[in-house]
Parts: sequence; structure tokens; C-alpha cells
Amino acid sequence: MRDFTLSVHHPAVAEEEFSSLCVATQRASTIVFDNAQAYATRGQRELDSYSYGMHGTPTQRVLEAQLTALEGGLKTVVVPSGQAAIAVVFLSVLKPGDHVLIAETAYPPVNGFCQNFLAPLGMTWSTYPPGIGSGIDEYITPETRLIWMESPGSTTMEIEDVPAIVACARARGILTGIDNTWATPLLFKPLAHGVDFSMQALTKYPGGHSDILMGSVTVARLDLRKGLRDVMRMLGFHTAPDAISLVLRGLETMAVRVEHSGRVASDLAREIDAKYPVEVLSPILPESPGHALWQRDFTGASGLFSVVLPKDWEGRLDDALNGLRIFAIGASWGGTRSLIAPMTVTGHRTTPHPRNERIILRLSIGLEDPEDLRADLHAFFGLLAAG
Ligand SMILES: *Cc1c(COP(=O)(O)O)cnc(C)c1O
Repeated sequence: MRDFTLSVHHPAVAEEEFSSLCVATQRASTIVFDNAQAYATRGQRELDSYSYGMHGTPTQRVLEAQLTALEGGLKTVVVPSGQAAIAVVFLSVLKPGDHVLIAETAYPPVNGFCQNFLAPLGMTWSTYPPGIGSGIDEYITPETRLIWMESPGSTTMEIEDVPAIVACARARGILTGIDNTWATPLLFKPLAHGVDFSMQALTKYPGGHSDILMGSVTVARLDLRKGLRDVMRMLGFHTAPDAISLVLRGLETMAVRVEHSGRVASDLAREIDAKYPVEVLSPILPESPGHALWQRDFTGASGLFSVVLPKDWEGRLDDALNGLRIFAIGASWGGTRSLIAPMTVTGHRTTPHPRNERIILRLSIGLEDPEDLRADLHAFFGLLAAG
């Protein structure tokens, strides 16, 4: 071989005694085949096999298998973001004429997807109030094919009675899915409760360092996995192995991070609740409407909770936010840095509630020293209360 050829042909090296604790980052668009026959029949390969980089490399298979194990499922698919994971579930289930029923507390861009993407394709959607349990029956229509839950609800943290909703859905042959990003499969295992699709934004705790976006969906049925993979293939959804390797690294510390953040967040939520005239939204508080369900179904709390501000504090909020030293102002969550994000939910809610119009602060507790976080928050709430 001449130099140009030597330059592009990598020599094979022995790997026998190379045994590492790390998952190799294997990149590929092209997959090559041993012979013409293997190439000609590549379309018959199993979904876990390899035929084109689009459908994953061994790096991705490791993440899929690890998430499957944590979720107690059968198969997992990995997609470029949490929002993509939700879209893939909906598109794998719904046909024109079908209806999807969504918790009104679901991640708000889900509504946008239904309104702007599904509705023009002839699919319909409506919402139900969280915490409704078997009352879901009244919201189901003859066209309903999918019920989409999120528990706790985005920003306002209501817990859903997942087993009750699943029982109603199953009795009518309706599929169910849940956004399990808050709990991660460490604190709640949806498939064990009969949910068909367990979705996570890996962007949050699994990634854990505010530097990647990714999503996953885990199922307990091969036909559901096939439906998800069909949609991903049609849309050309590919997730880069380099990003996947960051999630694999994040997963190794996720249990420790979630436990720590959950403990510190719970302490801070209780303190703020006791000390200031605010409404703290977190299922860990005994007076929270979802507390009993959370105790029944979850094994703990993660590091995200919210605080509803009294109306007359709102004018001082910007100054107080600008004075924060440890907390950063920003959305997304689940990373090492503590974040605070002012939100309003008015536009997404159909059930009237006084807090819909108010400013709700969403706090994500990271890994800083709890005393530094405590001091920052007391200075912040002190400034708001002083007015
Ligand atoms: C962040 C988030 C998503 C979306 O994840 P992206 O990766 O940012 O698209 C979905 N659901 C919940 C509950 C989230 O917090």
C-alpha cells in the first residue's frame, strides 16, 4: 500500500488484554460489512444490531441497556432531547383522528407540539387536571389512544395517582406514558406501575452537568420499541456518541447526586416554608396535596421545588435575583450548580387556581455547600420580605 492508502487505513491492533472501566466512545456514520451477502441483507438485522450510524453504535447500546436496567424495562431508545423523546412517543402512537389526553401540568412545550404539529395533521388533544386519579374516565373520549402524565407536574409539583390512571387506561385499551424527569427511575419506576412509556430528559440528572441535551424512552414491549424506532428512522433522529459518553459518565454519579440534592432541597424547602409567608410547592411537605401519593409511590425527592411569592413581593424580585451570589438565574435543572428560575403558568393551565397568575420561583438545588445555599436564600428572601 502506498502512503495515501496507508493514511486512511487504520491498522488493526490487539485488544485482548485491554480491559478498561470506561465505555468506549464509538463513532460511526458508515458501518461496513464482511461480505456482499451481509450488505444485501442488512435491512433484516435486529434493532439492537448495527447497519448505519443513525441507529446507534455500541456506545449507545450501553446507555440503552443501562437505562433499561434502571427502569426495569425491556428496551430503551435514546433521542437528541427530552422534547424529542415526547414527540417520538406521540408520533409512534397517534394516527390522524386520534386523541391524546395530557396532564395540564405537563412540560409546557408538549402543548405547543400538540397545537402546532399534531393538530394540523388531524390529531386532537385536551388536558386533564393533575391529581384526578380515576376521575380521568370523564376526560377520555372514544378517540383517546394515549394518556400522557407528568408527576410531579412542571413548576407546580402536583403528584398524579399513576396506578389509578393506568387502571382506567388499560380497561379501555389506551396506552399511557409519563415524563419521569423529576424522579428519575431511582425514585419512581413507572413501568412497575403498568405505564407503557417511561420518558426522561437525560439533559437533567442523568447528564447532570448542564452541558448536553438528550432524552430516552423505556418500554416493556418489543412492539412499542419497534414503533419508536420506526419514527426515529423516518425523522432521522440521531444522538451523537460523544454526548452519549457524557451521559454514561453522568449516570455513574447520578444516585449520589440525586440523593444529596434531594436531601438538601428538602431541608431548604421546609425552612423556607416555615420562615417566610410564601407557598412552597413540593410533595415532601405533609400539607401538599400530593404528599400521600408521593409517600406511597416514590422512594424519595430530587432537588427541584418551587416557591409562590406573595403578590406584593413581585416588584422587588428583580433586585433580589440580581443580588444572588451562589444561585444562578436560569432554566433547565439537574446539574451541579444551583439554579433559580421565575416562572408563570397562566398560559398553560385550564383549571383555575389563584397561583396561576402569580410568579413562581423554581429552585434546582445543586452540589454546593448547603450552608452557602442557605445563606444565599435567606439573604434573597430577606430582601423580598423587607420591602
Ligand atoms: C427539560 C425537560 C424536558 C425537555 O428536555 P430537553 O432535553 O430540554 O428537551 C421535558 N420534560 C421535563 C419535565 C423537563 O424538565
